[in-house]
Amino acid sequence: MPELPEVQTVLDTLESRIKDREIIDIKVLYEPIIECSKRTFRKKLIGQHFRGFRRRGKYLLFEMDDLTLVSHLRMEGKYFILDEDYPLSKHDHVIFYLDDGKQLRYNDVRKFGRMEIIDKQDEYRDFHGLGPEPFSKDFNAGYCRKYLNNKKLPIKQVLLDQSFVAGIGNIYADEILFAIRVDPRTRADRLDDKDIENLIKETRKILKRAIKAGGTTIRSYTSSLGVTGRFQLSLNVHTMKKCPICRNDIKKITVGGRGTYYCEKCQKEK
Ligand SMILES: [Zn+2]
Repeated sequence: MPELPEVQTVLDTLESRIKDREIIDIKVLYEPIIECSKRTFRKKLIGQHFRGFRRRGKYLLFEMDDLTLVSHLRMEGKYFILDEDYPLSKHDHVIFYLDDGKQLRYNDVRKFGRMEIIDKQDEYRDFHGLGPEPFSKDFNAGYCRKYLNNKKLPIKQVLLDQSFVAGIGNIYADEILFAIRVDPRTRADRLDDKDIENLIKETRKILKRAIKAGGTTIRSYTSSLGVTGRFQLSLNVHTMKKCPICRNDIKKITVGGRGTYYCEKCQKEK
């Protein structure tokens, strides 16, 4: 599932390709992808231009002239920018016809992705119950302390909770906990002030590095490749065999139902 850096990469790529393009027609081939009727979706979006490209958590926000189109890729959602004569795939579910003759196609093998239209001013107001953005001032030590204080769940599980901080998924949660040397099963309320300070710092550092890696990948995209935001990540612990610090075997366990990788020597339970 795409996490914050991948979503940001998709957005940046789309911005470089379709900024200020007008939607001249839309075909919805699989209606459950959109949160309103086909008719409303077409009526509201045809004639609008892609003006701004923003992200909130793992949501893509396309700022149009009069409204915002929100897209969540979930497991397998991808965007393709293709010429109109390019053969349709059975996994293409929404097609936006653009004024330069290209098509923006939303492709989703699992069909879990969703699109909805919201008012512009609703973007940042309690948007889907999301917590603060990791790079915002609201994600600070005071906030984290207060949030974690009465949480008895494992810290790994809390990191995945989008109401704590927006955009972190399974891969980066493992990487962050490795970076701060905390066992993923540690009760969230047992993190001390130093851990919290490290958590904030490492979260930003790791996500920033991943966004940067994504940015270098953008250049290699061609129009026939899906814009997925996936790229070669340099990971320390997630799906790895050996700890890069102590060379011990990385352990795989399940925390809150999710496969979790950690080093039992370097990461201590508190
Ligand atoms: Zn280790």
